[in-house]
Formats: sequence, C-alpha cells, structure tokens
Amino acid sequence: STIPKAYNEPLRNYEAGSQDAKLLKAACDKLRSECPEIPCVVGGREIKTGNIGKQLVCSDHAQVLCTFHQANEQILREAIEVSLEAKKSWEALPWEDRAAIFLRAADLLATKYRYEANAATMLGQGKTVWQAEIDSACETIDFFRFNVKYVEEIYSMQPPENSKGVWNRVEYRPLEGYVVAISPFNFTAIGANLPTSPALMGNVVLWKPASTAILSNWVIFKILREAGLPDGVINFLPGSGALIGNILLDSPHFAGLHFTGSTAVFNSIMFKTAQNLNNNLYRGYPRMVGETGGKDFHFAHKSALVDNLFHNTVRAAFEYQGQKCSACSRAYIPDNLWPELKERFIEFSKQVKMGQSDDFANFMSAVIDKNSFNNIRNYIDHAAASPDAEILIGGKYDDSKGWFVEPTIIVAKDPKYKSMVEEIFGPVLTIYVYPADQYEETLALCDQTSPYSLTGSIFAQDRYAVATATRLLRNSSGNFYINDKCTGAVVGQQPFGGARASGTNDKAGSNLNLLRWVSARSIKENF
Ligand code: GLU
Repeated sequence: STIPKAYNEPLRNYEAGSQDAKLLKAACDKLRSECPEIPCVVGGREIKTGNIGKQLVCSDHAQVLCTFHQANEQILREAIEVSLEAKKSWEALPWEDRAAIFLRAADLLATKYRYEANAATMLGQGKTVWQAEIDSACETIDFFRFNVKYVEEIYSMQPPENSKGVWNRVEYRPLEGYVVAISPFNFTAIGANLPTSPALMGNVVLWKPASTAILSNWVIFKILREAGLPDGVINFLPGSGALIGNILLDSPHFAGLHFTGSTAVFNSIMFKTAQNLNNNLYRGYPRMVGETGGKDFHFAHKSALVDNLFHNTVRAAFEYQGQKCSACSRAYIPDNLWPELKERFIEFSKQVKMGQSDDFANFMSAVIDKNSFNNIRNYIDHAAASPDAEILIGGKYDDSKGWFVEPTIIVAKDPKYKSMVEEIFGPVLTIYVYPADQYEETLALCDQTSPYSLTGSIFAQDRYAVATATRLLRNSSGNFYINDKCTGAVVGQQPFGGARASGTNDKAGSNLNLLRWVSARSIKENF
C-alpha cells in the first residue's frame, strides 16, 4: 500500500485549565455571538432562497445558533443537473486524487477546525465536550482516514485466476446517476460519512443535512471545500425532508440512498422507490443503505461484576442524553445483583451534573428539540401512571430554558411493557429484573421483545453464560459487546450497523459500506 497508514485520531481531554479547554471555550463563545446565515450550495454556488430555517441552542433555546436557507424545488432540480455534469470529471479522476482530498480534510479537521466543529456540535446538538470530541473530531477524522484504506482494499480485490490466454479483471464503477445522503442530527460524524463515502468511490451526492445539525455539518462541508473537493461533487441542501425526498427520489438518475434516521422515514422512502420502480422510472435498482432505529440492550448474568455493569450502563443509557441509535434503553438484570445495582443508580441520580453543553463540568445536557422533549415526556408520564412500571430515578423534565430531561430509570414489572419495546431516543432506561435462575428463558425473551437489532451487550464472568448469550442473541444485534457498553463503536475497530428494523446492516466504517457505492464490471479479454 502506498497510502499513509490509517490510525484512530487520539482523543483530547480538555481538562480544566488546559490550552485545549481554553480554545474550545473561546470557540463556543464565538459561535454564541455570531449567528451565521448558511446558504444552499449547488455546484459551488452559494444560494440564498429566502426560505429561512433556524437552528437553536438546545440547552438555551432562546438563542438562535444559525439561520439557514432551505432548498426549494427549482434548486433541487438544478442540483441534479449540476451533479450529473460534475460526475463526468469526478469519476474519471484517479482514485488517489479523490482519496487525497479526504485525507487532507481529516488533517484540516484535526488541526485547524477541531474547536469550531466541536463547538458547533456542542451548542447545536447538545453534546458535552467529551461527546463532541469523540464525534465531530475523532470519529469524523477516522471515517475520512479509514474509508480511504478500505477503498484501496476494494480496488485491489481481483479474480484469483486467469485461464491460459485470458486476462480477467474487475472494474469498480461508481453508480450510474447520483446518490442522495440524508443525515441525522445525532452524530456530526454520520453527517460527514453519509455524503463522503459514496463520493470517495467516484459518485456525486446530494446531501440533505438534518435541520437540527446544520452548523456542524456546514463546518464539515466548508472543510471539504477547503480540502479541494471539486464543485458539484457534494451539494449542500438543507430543508424540508418531504420536499427534498420527493424531488430527489423522483428522477430517473436516482441511483442510491445513504440514510440514517427513523425506521418510519426509511420505510416510506423504500415504499416510494418501489412505486417508482413499478412505473419504470429508474434506469437501475437504487442502492438503499439505511441505518434506522434501535432498542438496544444490556443483559446481565448473575456472575456479572456490578461495578462494571453500573458504569457501562450509566454511560450507554445517559451519555448524549440517550440519543445515540446505539444507546442502552432496556436492561435485563438478575435479581441477585439488583439490590446493589439499584443503590448505585440512586446514588448516581443524586450526583449527576446536567446543564449547558458548553459548561465542561456537565455529564449531560438538553435533548435536541421540542418534539423530542414532548415524545420523551409522554413515555415518562405513561410510566408514572402505569401499574406495570415504576420510576426508580429521575422522571422530571423542564423546558423553560433548554429541553432538559432528567436521566430516568423505569423498572418494568411486565417485560413487554411499552418502554421495554419502543424506541424513545432520550435519557430513559427501562429495566426488567428477572429471576437469576431463568437465564436462558430471559435471553429468549430479550430476543423477541423488540423489532430492532442494532446493539446489545452481555455482562458475565461465567464463560458458559457468555457463550450461551452469544448464541441465543445471535440475531438480536448487529454490534454485540461482551462486558462492555453497547455504545461507542470505533471506526476501524467495530464496523457499525444493525439488521431487522434497524437497517440494511451495511456497516458504517468498513469496506462493506463502501462496496455498496460501486457497481462492479467483470472484464474478460482474450490474448
Ligand atoms: N456509532 C455510534 C455508537 O456506536 C452510534 C451511531 C448512531 O447513533 O447512529 O455509539
């Protein structure tokens, strides 16, 4: 290999008084005083449509973080044309020249834009300093670096045999048409990965960032342009999901979708594309890559270490206010461990620090927006009133300044109680305490409780128990952890994605994902 070795970007710790902490705090203060106006970008041209959206600071929602111009129908149609034009030269460029742009972007982010990207993620998406650093800095950089490594591997995958007088080879063509990237609010890194991984393979992309993550995604887009990404290869199109979906899916040149978001939205897009296929609108079958919901679990065996179980569960359930697709939102705890674990949770609830995302002392901040706040509140209110559930810690919420919800643990008497089954996307963990001698039955129950299959963890010291869980939960998650939390997959280490209602399982941060953005052609030549 000739490319620079890929490595995980080291985390900075922003300890109080450090230079990093000062510079990051200054970047936050600067963003709080600026309120930039962000355009659509089509073919390198910045366009102001006048249809303005606002991104608010979630922990302080009286403050507007930025405004943005939302794409309209005309701009979306123009973006289709412009991207198809840009595709001609982009796909003809040697792959090393494409790769170099993303490696340069990784370096720019690591050095020049780290504080700005983190500050935008903290204020706009409600991440604490640590949660921003692992996302908008490290994971984003890792995607850029490791994707390049995977691409090199893919291009070198060639048939092992040539019959006498024959030369066989495989050409990895980009898809015929454009790719649509629809990215979520909860990871700036996913915002970066969804448009760039198809682009790296020679595709052109129409990117719709989440309206609640505009500023951080704009910083990423700015970095890509500075790194030399040619005009029109990735087009930046904030705005209404419904409008953008309708226009961009309804063109004969729609070739693929790279999506992270809800199961319901992904299903509706699948439905629409199926209708379009039925009407012979498309030239080919679009590649549909989606990462959707989760109802991720921690499962403890009676031999688990309580301390490890406690720390990992608190982190997986409440870091980033439970708004990772991978967040632990249900747990199965054997009755022998429960008395001690329960005390630990109560102690945690008395000490936890929650507040402004740019106050570095906080463990948690606010949830993303009003809709989310109301949805979470409904689950808490339901539990407070239900005979099948009891609230152990938290249960209070307050949206007067920001959208704050206390870290909440519901203990379910019924293992199929509503909040054991449905995705909530907030700091709410539901626990079912099971008789320690019913391990296998409860593992089976865990598998059958939710339609999702994204992440899950087994906690046990007993090796037979680990093996049993690994076997019985084989299809219950796409990422499985042993004695570790079910969040925090690292690019280059644990490819990330789920099956069942959690998505198409085309593992972000691996060659499996990048393979979806090529259409291989076999070439046989006789001498
Ligand atoms: N990769 C992240 C993790 O393992 C989750 C990504 C997501 O929320 O979609 O925590």
